[in-house]
Amino acid sequence: MIVTRFAPSPTGYLHIGGLRTALYNYLYARANNGKFLLRIEDTDLKRNSEEATQAIKEAFAWCKLDHDGEVTYQSKRFDLYKEYVKKLLEEGKAYKCYMSKDELEELRASQEARKERPKYDNRYRDFTGTPPAGIEPVIRIKAPLSGEIVIHDGIKGEVKFKVEDILDDFIIARSDGTPTYNFTVVIDDALMGVTDVIRGDDHLSNTPKQIVLYEALGFKVPKFYHVAMINGEDGKKLSKRHGATDVMEYKKMGYLPEALLNFLVRLGWSHGDDEIFTIEDMLKYFNPNDINKSSSTYNAQKLDWLNSHYIKTLPYERLAHDMLEFGVDFKALVKGELLLNSLRERSKTLIEMANSANAIINAPKSYDEKAWAKFINENSKEILAKFAQILDRDLDAKSYEELTNKFLEQNGLKLKDLAQALRIALTGSSVSPSIFEVLEVVGSSETKNRIQNLLKEEK
Ligand code: GLU
Repeated sequence: MIVTRFAPSPTGYLHIGGLRTALYNYLYARANNGKFLLRIEDTDLKRNSEEATQAIKEAFAWCKLDHDGEVTYQSKRFDLYKEYVKKLLEEGKAYKCYMSKDELEELRASQEARKERPKYDNRYRDFTGTPPAGIEPVIRIKAPLSGEIVIHDGIKGEVKFKVEDILDDFIIARSDGTPTYNFTVVIDDALMGVTDVIRGDDHLSNTPKQIVLYEALGFKVPKFYHVAMINGEDGKKLSKRHGATDVMEYKKMGYLPEALLNFLVRLGWSHGDDEIFTIEDMLKYFNPNDINKSSSTYNAQKLDWLNSHYIKTLPYERLAHDMLEFGVDFKALVKGELLLNSLRERSKTLIEMANSANAIINAPKSYDEKAWAKFINENSKEILAKFAQILDRDLDAKSYEELTNKFLEQNGLKLKDLAQALRIALTGSSVSPSIFEVLEVVGSSETKNRIQNLLKEEK
């Protein structure tokens, strides 16, 4: 059975790069009837916060990425890690190192002076003497001294590391007894039965260390997939400078989770020339072996395009529900469904939709100055006043269109002589969906009121 996991360190919010990693793990597990686990890597008790963990859970809930079983918290597993440190010590695979801070600095300085890689010199590896007094030891693993470590990465292919270039007897437990990152990850992945680790390639350099630990502990090494980073359009690693990176910020900006997930799945993975992927499509086609080797570029227009697509196509009920958060209750409006269906054709975000909806639902409090200067004059006011006179009952959009055409014909006018002025009267600006749909939503009596308001306006 495929078992994957997402293992964030809760230091702030959930980054969209993290969400992409989570999504890849989720898809691979779900598509194979496997398990997708969530582990919170909160061993850094100073930097981790409960709010950050909540933010991750909130983002998962918004995107409907459900994980299996209980959430695992590393902060609750210190006793377990200690047991395994003890086991390695007993088996002679790890040892206590009593090097003082000063000694370590001295070693660093001399290595730097010789332009060598900073690296522990194994001075306590085979130590049998009496330990120096007053020093709490760290625990180091006995790493191989030479040879190669090979990763068979599902994305990058075979990646070889020369032991001399990257390894030393690294620390697995600090002098205060707390385990280090590489150690806890290995213990947890092994004990949680993780078979496949899909994660950012910023962790690639940790992987040889982790392989050393898997082997020392006698655990099976999982399959690794190291995903290249997401860059901004300037080619630099995606950061706040490029725009929002917090998943929940996208919700606030009026993006739909379907659009964000679709956007993220394509950042680093493709299936032919397809661009639109529902979760069902992703489950059908996603395979971590097809993830791109090279880094991908964040493209804001693409996200907007996808968001427009999902705004156009998701069911009314669903959008009406999501719009509540943006202050518009379509279901409470007599013509709510018509209004939403009309606005969905032209909204890139739910915020845009809320603004356009409010402009139609509420009588304008003010008028767009440019639009007024361009379209409102004595002539257009006269046409509006005349048009108001023929509105005696509520009609549907098609009948408003017929009525308007008749009116224009009888008065020797063109649609352009009326439409923009009417839009301004109804919504305060000259941009709106089909004027006939707006008429149907607003209704005849309120349209008359809004025309009267415009006519009374002193400018
Ligand atoms: N906790 C690590 C991070 O947030 C991820 C560890 C892993 O995926 O192995 O970067």
